[in-house]
Amino acid sequence: MNPEDCVFCKISKREIPGEFLYRDETCFAIRDINPVSEIHFLLIPVSHTLYLSDILESDFDIFSHMYLVARNLATSEGISDSGYRIVLNQKNDAGQEVPHLHLHVLGGNKLGSMV
Ligand code: AMP
Ligand code: ZN
Repeated sequence: MNPEDCVFCKISKREIPGEFLYRDETCFAIRDINPVSEIHFLLIPVSHTLYLSDILESDFDIFSHMYLVARNLATSEGISDSGYRIVLNQKNDAGQEVPHLHLHVLGGNKLGSMV
């Protein structure tokens, strides 16, 4: 999929709306439009990276930065103590809908066991 057709790239470029919680030059966070928990937001790299397998080892600092931002937002969203789950769906078997890498952060209520 081209960045021109990508919903997350469109949100990043403010071509379509998104409820931003955070933004810097490498990543941004928005609330999920279809939340599956009380708190459900997404951490998304600005660059149109499709899959975890596409990230070069040299670029993993962006990914660790996303985890740091996720942790800080979990605190500001009030779920740091109650707990949360971070999920990355990769490709078909995981049900990835948007082929632009992202982390889901889920919390605010008791989550069902996944693994
Ligand atoms: P995934 O299955 O991991 O690819 O998840 C994609 C997520 O993006 C889903 O939870 C969707 O609800 C969410 N999503 C899709 N379009 C939007 C949008 N315009 N704004 C916010 N979240 C979105
Ligand atoms: Zn994209």
